[in-house]
Amino acid sequence: MIVKEGKARIKLDKDVFYNPKMTFCRHLDVLAYRVIAKDESREVRSLDALAATGVRGIRACLEAGFRSTFNDKNPRAVELIKENLKLNEIEAEVFNRDAVALMRESRFIHIDLDPFGSPAEFIDTACLSALKYLSVTATDTAALCGSAPLAGLRKYAIYAEKTEFYPELGLRTLIGKIVREATKYDKAVEVLVSWAREHYYRVHVKLRRSVALAGKIYEKVGYLFYCFKCGNREWLPMNGEALEKCRCGNRFVMIGPLWLGELHNKVFVKAMIDDVGGMHVDEGTKKKLRKFLQLIYEEIDIPFGYTTHHIAMMLKTSPPQVAKIIEEFRSMGYRASRVHYSGVGFKTDADVETIKNVVLALNTQN
Ligand code: SAH
Repeated sequence: MIVKEGKARIKLDKDVFYNPKMTFCRHLDVLAYRVIAKDESREVRSLDALAATGVRGIRACLEAGFRSTFNDKNPRAVELIKENLKLNEIEAEVFNRDAVALMRESRFIHIDLDPFGSPAEFIDTACLSALKYLSVTATDTAALCGSAPLAGLRKYAIYAEKTEFYPELGLRTLIGKIVREATKYDKAVEVLVSWAREHYYRVHVKLRRSVALAGKIYEKVGYLFYCFKCGNREWLPMNGEALEKCRCGNRFVMIGPLWLGELHNKVFVKAMIDDVGGMHVDEGTKKKLRKFLQLIYEEIDIPFGYTTHHIAMMLKTSPPQVAKIIEEFRSMGYRASRVHYSGVGFKTDADVETIKNVVLALNTQN
């Protein structure tokens, strides 16, 4: 069977992984690659390290002008990639190697790590091998977001428990892991764009080689102190002093280390939005892409969202509309926005007590 995705035609095989549900993610990735390609004066030499059918690398070539190299340890995948390259009239190198061994030996401008499951075992070497850009997918969301604390410890060396903003926690765990692996190679990380969607997380980062920046980045890596009783949260860099008690008297749970910095670069995301029109997808998909990217673009740069449901549950009242509560915060002079990862989520720089008072006041007005 042959499927069409963007400009690519991809032959499938029962023994090689292909997930049609990730097509929207791949559209977003192509948009990110197109912005990267525009920013680079040279051809972007990219490795599709866990290529399977080769769909990602092929789309990167056809739609963003990347020069992709392909790799998969499964010999059947390698055969299929070669067929797919022919089908799309692309000439490229294809390796049948262990991705870690290949990345240890070779350098690429960009690496795409898109495993089925956890990227944990690949991140270290990818940070060494990628000279400028790294893209990572993770589908082991339970390990990342705190719903499987032991898996989080084993795979990512973080401690987390499940909170109401768990998709954001998962994304910040993944980015934090990338940052902590990159700095030993004297590389600092800048997040270009990232998102949590359905059952996966995805992040595109730029790596900067600098001893000074690789040290300084730890200002943005640290711990979240979360109070499961009142919903209060504080966060501090790794060299900060641990907080034991919440002001409500309950003990804080210490979660991390996590990325506390930006989840996206506004200029980069704006460039992605502006480029949606040039994508080889139908109008409905373009609309969906713009809508999702706009949510990311508008999400304010403050760690850890709230949900109206969780606030309402703590107050034993009904949840207000997200749009209403955001409007209210803005009128009070706070910053506020939706979050891209939950329809009932929001972010604000107001503290949790203020948020609760606003929800109570809105509910008595109704
Ligand atoms: N990126 C693909 C999906 C990849 S599925 C897409 O977008 O459709 C994961 C692939 O990684 C599988 O084909 C598997 O054979 C391969 N793989 C797993 N471990 C590997 C390793 N250590 N080295 C190279 N390939 C590996």
